[in-house]
Amino acid sequence: MKQSVRAYWILLAFSLVLSPALDAEVVIRGDRDHYSLNDQVTYSVDDSGDATLQDILGQGEWTANPDDGVLNLGFTSAPVWVKMSVQIPASTRGQWYLVIPYPLLEEVELFVLREGRLPVLYQNSRQDVHETHRHLAAYSVGLPVPQGLTGNLDLVLRAASSTSLQVPVELWREDYLFDRFMAHSLYWGGYFGILFALAIYNLVLFLSIRDAAYGYYVLYVAALSVVMLSISGVGSAFVWYQDPLLTRYVLPIGTGLTSLCAVLFARQFLKWPGFSPRLDGTMKVAAGLASVLIVYTLFDPLNGTRLAGLLGALVLVVLISVGVASLLAGVAIARYFVLAWAAFAGGGLLYLLTVFDVFPVNAITNHAMAAGSAAEVLLLSFALAHRIKEERSHKMAALRRQQQAEQQVRKLHLKALEQAMHDTLTQMPNASLLKQRLQESVDRNTRVALVLVHYPQVKEIASSMGHSLAEKMFLQLVHKVNQALGGPGSVIRLENTGPAYLAIPDFGSIAFLIDFEKLDTELELFVEQMAGHHEVSVNSVRLPLFMNLYCGVAIHAEHGDKAEVLFQHASAARDSSARDKVPVQVYNEGISAFARRRLALLSALPAAIEAGELELYLQPQMNESGQRLVGAEVLLRWTSSRFGPVPTWELIEIAENAGLMDLLSRFVIRESWKTIKRLQQQKLDITCSINLSVQNLINSDFVAFLLAGAKEHAIPMDRLILEVTETSMMHNMDAVIGSLLLIADKGCKVALDDFGTGYSSLAYLSRLPIHELKIDRCFVSQMCSSRNDLWIVENTLKLARTLNLETVAEGVEDAETVSLLHKLGCHRLQGYHFAKPMPVETFCDWALQRKAS
Ligand code: C2E
Ligand code: CA
Ligand code: CA
Repeated sequence: MKQSVRAYWILLAFSLVLSPALDAEVVIRGDRDHYSLNDQVTYSVDDSGDATLQDILGQGEWTANPDDGVLNLGFTSAPVWVKMSVQIPASTRGQWYLVIPYPLLEEVELFVLREGRLPVLYQNSRQDVHETHRHLAAYSVGLPVPQGLTGNLDLVLRAASSTSLQVPVELWREDYLFDRFMAHSLYWGGYFGILFALAIYNLVLFLSIRDAAYGYYVLYVAALSVVMLSISGVGSAFVWYQDPLLTRYVLPIGTGLTSLCAVLFARQFLKWPGFSPRLDGTMKVAAGLASVLIVYTLFDPLNGTRLAGLLGALVLVVLISVGVASLLAGVAIARYFVLAWAAFAGGGLLYLLTVFDVFPVNAITNHAMAAGSAAEVLLLSFALAHRIKEERSHKMAALRRQQQAEQQVRKLHLKALEQAMHDTLTQMPNASLLKQRLQESVDRNTRVALVLVHYPQVKEIASSMGHSLAEKMFLQLVHKVNQALGGPGSVIRLENTGPAYLAIPDFGSIAFLIDFEKLDTELELFVEQMAGHHEVSVNSVRLPLFMNLYCGVAIHAEHGDKAEVLFQHASAARDSSARDKVPVQVYNEGISAFARRRLALLSALPAAIEAGELELYLQPQMNESGQRLVGAEVLLRWTSSRFGPVPTWELIEIAENAGLMDLLSRFVIRESWKTIKRLQQQKLDITCSINLSVQNLINSDFVAFLLAGAKEHAIPMDRLILEVTETSMMHNMDAVIGSLLLIADKGCKVALDDFGTGYSSLAYLSRLPIHELKIDRCFVSQMCSSRNDLWIVENTLKLARTLNLETVAEGVEDAETVSLLHKLGCHRLQGYHFAKPMPVETFCDWALQRKAS
């Protein structure tokens, strides 16, 4: 590369230094195929522009060509008369042509005279040749010299150009002429071929990528082609041969367009974030000037061409500066850009220097423009290709980043999905995942059993001993059950990632799936063995958990063929197991019928209250000896027109589950005020115990309603006792305590109902504002026969005494229990032994009768 550059410069130097031979007169012997006449040339510029041959010959002022090279008069619109002498011996053979290898001449006229004297022996012109000798249409002007003319001849030319006026003159033998024309055709064909190919290639790129840089490049190459068509003569010879004069417009317009497109291309191509506004401004000005120039040229082609040349030079400087600035700013592809314009600048400069007659015309300066522009166009195209590569790698990087981001999102999504499918405490699958697996088994037509297990102690322990302790216990329990489930091989694994055999539908419950086909023991037994008999120990507290567990089982396909239905049925079976106190309950139609009845009861309840189907019963409470009536407990009764008598525990359960407790208790309270009034009327000065649900106590509206009602009806507060069950209360301690304090503050007493059935702890008992403990009837009714129950009753009474609380025993069914309780120091007694609950009027009769006796 370096070497070839050096060779180029050496060649250039030689060509500039060595001028053609200095013969006095050229003798056309025919031993050479061409002769240069440049050193023979004398000339006369016709400033008037309309001198005839006669005028010129008469005037006789011929100037010698100063440097023996190509006659170069620079920019002038004046025609020039050129004269040279040749000798053609008679022996010279072949057809000869006077060739002016400079295509920008618009007018060329040849006159052949003998020794500078008229008449004209032969006359021809470029225009004539064009019309008569189409095969001579070429890049250079070639005028045939007639074969018969021999001897000493003077050749006089009249030439004019609207651009730079150069008149190189040579005599070519016909074969040489055709050889040269062929060579030129090849040369320019190759040159325009390259331009055309690059333009098409980038046009296709532009159409597919829609990047304006490619579009401007194509426009630039097109404009450059126009310039080169003019300069090379190809345009006037082949394209606008009808009117070779067009060159005078085509060249400057082409030059202006080239500048304009070059600037537009550069702005698009080199766009980088910190594009200096000054450089950008300069480019805009250059583009503007180019546009103005294009229009100006139409009116003044000669000066237009000159200005276009100057503007081209200016644009070149700007483009190279912009390229260098980009390069410094770190735009890698700018190096091709700078190289390209430098190549173009080199070629263009050499050409312009000859145009402005600074350098002599020779082979190198003649081809400098073509070589420079071809190199430039190639380099720019290369830069554009490189740009595609760069953009591609940018796009790939962006794509990679996007893929990474997507992957992250997917991971997060999976994690979220995983979380959505798992229980946060135990990390075990939750109900959703379980149902999904169940449905899958159903879809595969596996005979699968869904088991729902509830451990009631877990929630109770959470309330009485703290949530974190209950959680630890539950975690241990879950771990143990899961391990047990993994053993036999008939329990379906819920996750592939870990050995998870159970799911957590809610805190305190587990669920699992059994593949019935693989089960070799009895289902109920298997379930009880798997889910029960686990001991958990937390902080040295050991609790055997097999005591209490409710299991409901539903089997595919007999109990349903949808996960949701099986779940509903297993859950109904589990409720039934809890109700009936059997450890494992397999679903059956009865359970479903029960659930349907529940639903029907629930929907009938509000209307039943309205319709007055509900009624208050009273059950007497006796003093410690059982002799004297001291109080009454208000108990609800519902005799439904549709369902008959509804058990009160069921009614309460339904109302609590359906959130209807507020409605129900407001009814009880309103009826109780009437009842108390009635008792007062009957002069029965006894306490009245009303049962409340925890749902009522956590509702401040209800408490306000209660207290306002008591005030409104002037209820003696010391005669009012509100009963709350122990177990339900523990779940909402703080809210309940607040309400109870409010109630107690008004002088009303609070009784803790069903005492002994929950997990009473001294800690919370001392926190509650209560006055009375009601020992549950399950201990009382059998205390005479069961040592265990007796022990519990005894200790409860002791505890109450320590805490300074009153005691009531409910479920007193015989005289023996009465005397035993009396002995143990229980304050009040309630039970079938004295009376069953009865309607208010019946109660009043019963009480008055008893009073009388
Ligand atoms: P509880 O508060 O423990 O009421 C005592 C229950 O024991 C009553 O059942 C009563 O009929 C029954 N009973 C009384 N003496 C004996 C006896 O010697 N032996 C036996 N085996 N049972 C006896 P009932 O009326 O069916 O009430 C069931 C539960 O329903 C009540 O239990 C109470 O928790 C709830 N309840 C009843 N009425 C209301 C009410 O108006 N509001 C609220 N919130 N709950 C109520
Ligand atoms: Ca009660
Ligand atoms: Ca009770």
